[in-house]
Amino acid sequence: MNHHARRRQRFARLLKDEKLGAFLVTNPLNALYLTGFTGGSSFVIITSKRTILVTDTRFSIQVAEECPDLETAIRGPNKTTCQLAAEVLEKLGLQTVGVESQHLTIANFDALENFAKSIDFVAKNGLVESLRVIKDESEITAIREAIEYGKRAFKMMQAMLSATDTEKEVADALDSYIRRAGGHGTSFETIVAVGDRSALPHCPPSSRRIAEGDFMLVDWGARGPLYTSDLTRVIRSPFFAERKGRQRVESKLQKIYTVVLQAQRRAIAAVRPGVAAKDVDAATRSYIADAGYGNAFNHGLGHGIGLQVHEGPDIRSTSTDVLEAGMVFTLEPGVYIEGFGGVRLEDNILVTPDGCEVLSSGVPIDF
Ligand code: ZN
Ligand code: ZN
Repeated sequence: MNHHARRRQRFARLLKDEKLGAFLVTNPLNALYLTGFTGGSSFVIITSKRTILVTDTRFSIQVAEECPDLETAIRGPNKTTCQLAAEVLEKLGLQTVGVESQHLTIANFDALENFAKSIDFVAKNGLVESLRVIKDESEITAIREAIEYGKRAFKMMQAMLSATDTEKEVADALDSYIRRAGGHGTSFETIVAVGDRSALPHCPPSSRRIAEGDFMLVDWGARGPLYTSDLTRVIRSPFFAERKGRQRVESKLQKIYTVVLQAQRRAIAAVRPGVAAKDVDAATRSYIADAGYGNAFNHGLGHGIGLQVHEGPDIRSTSTDVLEAGMVFTLEPGVYIEGFGGVRLEDNILVTPDGCEVLSSGVPIDF
């Protein structure tokens, strides 16, 4: 049985627990997760025994290539996907069908109700996502690959830095190195923030030149082809200009960097199955607060990565998630000081049966 069939088998058990005759998957990534079909614009109908991909003629060849064992319902240009999905569901004689409340638009919900009047559509939140949160071996391998592309691209970027480069030029170059390293693209807009601009956790790249600051923060993610990585490093500018106050900047930066690095180590040490995600956040946050930077860590500690760069589990103070082996997420504590700059260190962590593995340990973190 392949990975997708195994996932569908697990999903069928969920359907039984939820007392649903079938489920209509409308989120393209959830459809991909359950079938391996990368085409998008398609729905998946799952019952306890059958899986039907509802798609259109543009994708006939692609479906045959990517998921030859799957049943399909293929529409021509005179029908909408909703209409065909409703017809298939009615033919199956179903009474209760779950739909994805976070992804199905109200217009499509109305259309389904209109086309399949005998069916009771029930909104459900996060059913497929509850499976996606635990990665199987093939997914962990794909995330390792995405990290490797990110790591190689970062090294290329460091080797090619020039004093006249702007933040935007460095970000653009890094994006192209991700592809050159084997990745299929980025998983979000690359952040390059020089000097005090690094105090903005989501700083958009500007025309600031890298020689204008003593350090820079880079937050980047590679995708390759389907799974993502998400990493952040702070590096010294290789183009130090001897300027007034540099020594002071240097020692303050070193101090903050050490606090963030130690905070991240605390987080990593706290990760193991059975631990509440909010407790990992608390351990890190209290360490940063004790070091005198309590208000300067102004975002959650981390987030799951996978097909999406932000998915479950949620590693923050309000999270109700409990860690389980197979979860993969970022740990990214930061300290941001307006007018000075910020330090964030972000790594990608796999929960193992007895603790965790830092999947991104090959990306140098020395400062
Ligand atoms: Zn990031
Ligand atoms: Zn992140």
